[in-house]
Amino acid sequence: MQATTVDTAQLESFNPATGEPLGAVPVTVPEHVQGMVDGVASVQPSWAGLGLAQRGAVLERAAQVVLDECDEIRDLIVREQGKPRNEAFSMEILPTVDALRWIAKSGAQILAEEKVPMPQVFLKTKRSALVYEPLGVIAVISPWNYPWSIPLGEVGLALMAGNGVVLKPASLTPLIGERIVSVLERAGVPAGLIQVVHGPGTGAALAESSVANVFFTGSVETGRSVAEACARRLKGSVLELGGKDPMIVLDDAHLEHAIAGAVWGGFANAGQTCSGIERVYVMRSVAERFIAGVVAGARRLRVGDPMSWDTEIGPMVSAEQLEIVRSLVDDAVAAGAELHCGGQVEAPLGLDGAFYAPAVLTGVTHDMRIMREEIFGPAVPIIVVDSEEDAVALANDSEFGLGASVWTADRARGERIAGRLESGMVWINDHMFSHGACQCAWGGVKDSGLGRTHSKFGLYECVNVKLRAWEGSTVRDAWWHPYDETLGRALRATAQLLYGRSSERAAALREGAVPLTRLGARLARDAFRR
Ligand code: NAD
Repeated sequence: MQATTVDTAQLESFNPATGEPLGAVPVTVPEHVQGMVDGVASVQPSWAGLGLAQRGAVLERAAQVVLDECDEIRDLIVREQGKPRNEAFSMEILPTVDALRWIAKSGAQILAEEKVPMPQVFLKTKRSALVYEPLGVIAVISPWNYPWSIPLGEVGLALMAGNGVVLKPASLTPLIGERIVSVLERAGVPAGLIQVVHGPGTGAALAESSVANVFFTGSVETGRSVAEACARRLKGSVLELGGKDPMIVLDDAHLEHAIAGAVWGGFANAGQTCSGIERVYVMRSVAERFIAGVVAGARRLRVGDPMSWDTEIGPMVSAEQLEIVRSLVDDAVAAGAELHCGGQVEAPLGLDGAFYAPAVLTGVTHDMRIMREEIFGPAVPIIVVDSEEDAVALANDSEFGLGASVWTADRARGERIAGRLESGMVWINDHMFSHGACQCAWGGVKDSGLGRTHSKFGLYECVNVKLRAWEGSTVRDAWWHPYDETLGRALRATAQLLYGRSSERAAALREGAVPLTRLGARLARDAFRR
């Protein structure tokens, strides 16, 4: 079972492991979205007026509220989204406590007014600074797979920069979206500064509304429509879209580590991770041991009730999501791939969800759908390669470019290959961990997205980077009117003297002496007259 609109006014949420209803939220009529944005805009100036230190203090308190309520929040995430308890903590709660603290502390430095040096001799009298001003209201549209950490991180960035927020949680995880707002309000975010919208049409209405920027995380298709709507209104959008992350295992990799990494990176959150490992390219000399290890590791993973402490694979978020995985795996097997383990399994006793045991495939080829489309489930196809070159070429042979990993004991070799991979992030001997470290930029290339979240770049998405300049002298700039030949010759001489070859400077000085002197005298006379 999954969340559906039960009538025109309510969006009901269901536990994906049991099918039990968890609660309901009011559906927002898309025509009301602009009014809600206007409401947030009316509260935002007083929040912006607080300044960085006070806004940061609220976000630090929010981190504390998350910690104080962590058991309850963890179990809400487990019940509404289905990831195992340990993952709800390691991949959702802990990263957001850390992120809120990083945003508060580092955000205050990153967004502080910044002096811009003016070393050019003809600009010496000017004083310039970059001032980071809030944009107003920012929309955060988020998916169901990390329903806590993705939106909360982005809401945190937007708030720190002085904005108000309208949050659109995924329709499968509305209660977690509501909980984000209640945590922030308990920490001291003024009522009305964040609003939540739910239901069909509200995401599109937000993109069309007067929000100044949109953080969108979701599928390529929807992301494209959000970007188009934003472009029509000449505003920005940060697009965090799908992935098809490759893992390259070299012959000198620490194999046990690579095997454990493949099992975790491929199957955590039941594979429903944008930057989960979706393709492995392993060198022939270590392939047999690697494949045997991954298959054994996948078989060992405990599929079951996500509320149980030792469960490692919970339910898929919905039957539809399971169907996508099953269809890709079946298609590969029909085309000749070998399925070593995994597949759909009966819901464990007392549960009523869509469960899929971790699947490992070999004998796949790059023309199979499973190697080209996002799987977004617990299936890891492995290809054996004969060279680094082949591995890099195959890794880059994708429409996606979110994350990638290289596994090797040789750091220089790993970094060299990292430089050749078409992706927004590359991890050497690890995978995807950096979403949990807010100081690291997150985002993709190609169809995986545009712009960056987290890090200073995520903060810069939330502000108008305004240059503010001060001219303290009364001498007018040399290039102002009147225009004449003296000005032209003086400008040419200045360019030659400042930037020309040293062997030509003497000539430039000879040629420029007269016009430069005349121009200087003209400026001095002009200043004196005032
Ligand atoms: P989705 O595109 O269906 O929905 C994402 C959000 O957009 C939801 O809140 C949805 O209600 C909303 N939405 C739906 N139609 C909309 C429209 N026309 N305009 C605006 N918003 C609209 O994606 P999903 O199924 O919730 O999430 C899975 C996808 O998200 C996967 O492709 C996954 O790779 C991607 N993802 C990417 C990242 C990343 O960091 N790059 C992280 C997590 C998930």
